[in-house]
Amino acid sequence: MQKKYVRAIFPGSFDPITNGHLDVIKRGMKLFDELIVAVGRSPIKNQLFTPEERVEMISELIDKGTMPGVSVESFEGLTVEYAARRKANVILRGLRSLTDVQYEFQLAMTNRAVAGIETIFIMTSEQYGFTSSTLIREIASLGGDLSNLIPINVQERLNKRMKKGKSQ
Ligand code: ADP
Repeated sequence: MQKKYVRAIFPGSFDPITNGHLDVIKRGMKLFDELIVAVGRSPIKNQLFTPEERVEMISELIDKGTMPGVSVESFEGLTVEYAARRKANVILRGLRSLTDVQYEFQLAMTNRAVAGIETIFIMTSEQYGFTSSTLIREIASLGGDLSNLIPINVQERLNKRMKKGKSQ
């Protein structure tokens, strides 16, 4: 049987990208022919970085040499419609806790029911089990050290953003 070409999308807010996300990307890319990190342009969520800034930070982290097949872009609207437009056959998501499982289970079932698309989950690496973008934003606003949880380019942007916020 001929192997099917698998194009996966990894959708999320990535506001900002953390080492936990990066770990899912690095492990996920080995499972698929192509992996598109898809930054959602959600109008509802309280955002720290613009979708353009989030895409920029992620593209700085995608090493073309060691991460072939990985790319980043932003999208608007429903994830399943975006997946169909990009002819993706898999949605990749990460799991940290039982709370994640409950929410992600519902999301995956709905996406399969409405669009017939499969979701594949990657379990967090233990050291990132508690890392979330929300927590990163909170710690950053209080001036905490995040060097173990986020990449250096993200730390630099956060520092700048927090300084700018204070001077306003
Ligand atoms: P969303 O708003 O869509 O949940 P996020 O950027 O918060 O977007 O997360 C995108 C995906 O990455 C989700 O599947 C989330 O569970 C997963 N994820 C976030 N942080 C981690 C982590 N530390 N380890 C593993 N998966 C994670």
